Amino acid sequence: MAKINQNFLNLQGSYLFSEIAKRRTKFIQDNPNAQIISLGIGDVTRALPEAVTKAMHAAVDELATVSAFRGYGPEQGYDFLVNAIIEHDYKARGIELASNEVFVSDGSKCDVGNIQEIFSQDAVIAVQDPVYPVYVDTNVMAGRSGAFSKETNRYENIVYLPCNAENNFKPSLPDRKVDLIYLCYPNNPTGMTLTKDELKVWVDYAKANDAIILFDSAYEAYIQEEDVPRSIYEIEGAKDVAIEFRSLSKTAGFTGVRCAYTIVPRGVKAKDENGNEVTVADLWNRRHTTKFNGVSYVTQRGAEAIYSAEGKAQIATLVDYYMSNAAIIRDGLKSLSLTVYGGVNAPYIWLQTPNGLDSWAFFDKLLSEANIVGTPGVGFGQSGQGYFRLTAFGSRENTEKAVERITKLSL
Ligand code: PLP
Repeated sequence: MAKINQNFLNLQGSYLFSEIAKRRTKFIQDNPNAQIISLGIGDVTRALPEAVTKAMHAAVDELATVSAFRGYGPEQGYDFLVNAIIEHDYKARGIELASNEVFVSDGSKCDVGNIQEIFSQDAVIAVQDPVYPVYVDTNVMAGRSGAFSKETNRYENIVYLPCNAENNFKPSLPDRKVDLIYLCYPNNPTGMTLTKDELKVWVDYAKANDAIILFDSAYEAYIQEEDVPRSIYEIEGAKDVAIEFRSLSKTAGFTGVRCAYTIVPRGVKAKDENGNEVTVADLWNRRHTTKFNGVSYVTQRGAEAIYSAEGKAQIATLVDYYMSNAAIIRDGLKSLSLTVYGGVNAPYIWLQTPNGLDSWAFFDKLLSEANIVGTPGVGFGQSGQGYFRLTAFGSRENTEKAVERITKLSL
């Protein structure tokens, strides 16, 4: 019999969203007439921008002709998209990037999950707690995590950086040497952000400690405030120590269409076992071209269209729609004297559960008494215990209805 990768057995329990689905299904079985509203999983609900669908239709028509047909494309992305990304997302903000520093992919989940593969087995990783679960689980699969402790709800070799009300959800620097630091801003799940000065502390730390920052910026499009950096490369020196991940999923409704990109500046270096310097972008390129065959032409034409004047305006409308939902949820919960975070530069609202309820107890209360599905904070890590995440990605009607129902609860 073939042997399995034993690390997979070190993964904990069912994935957060399967447990939510299980409880939701059971509730519906017991209460078939309940009108459930989901503000749980972070998936978008609005249609694709028209500029995107128009471009995709045109691309399909091209492929229908022999003269314009395209088969395999460059694994790193077509020049038209790579150049648009550089021009609009970076150059417009004073950041210079070369085309061999941009890697188009079919999603940030894959990229943030796969990036660990090019680093050594004994690399020490640091994650924010609470955290997007993919960073931790992919390192568990790779055998980097050490054993899981049921008492602490943590892996022994992972360095956790607690984010809680005491530190305003801004983690302190690690208290031991780490090699890779996953930072996610605007943050999922807390919806909080760092200012430029606060992010600079991390860049300086990475420089001083030969660490690399893996900066997940999937929610960049939702930033509203001036002092919040849209890219880590707005911070001086970051091009030597940071890899940035961006996704069109939440920016332009691409959760089902799939398109994202990762920036690996050539200045980011790591060392081999003999201490020789290696350019990380070369390894990522090697990995990407070996294991990935590019995003479809049709999708990339759709992605390119978000940078047209029409596309930009339509995306702004999408973001406004979701951020207005966020404001409705935030204001509604605040009017009940609940303690609420996020929802200002991100489509997530992070609330402190009332009356000291634990996260799952609040989940059950909200489901049974208001028929609303949210996400228990503890599912994102031990520091999320006592918190709860609601998303602004629902329809306006459902968002308003949900807030109205919560208002009627005895909390
Ligand atoms: N990173 C974070 C923090 C996310 O919340 C998500 C999706 O929810 C992703 C990455 C994955 O995005 P994509 O749809 O591009 O795979």
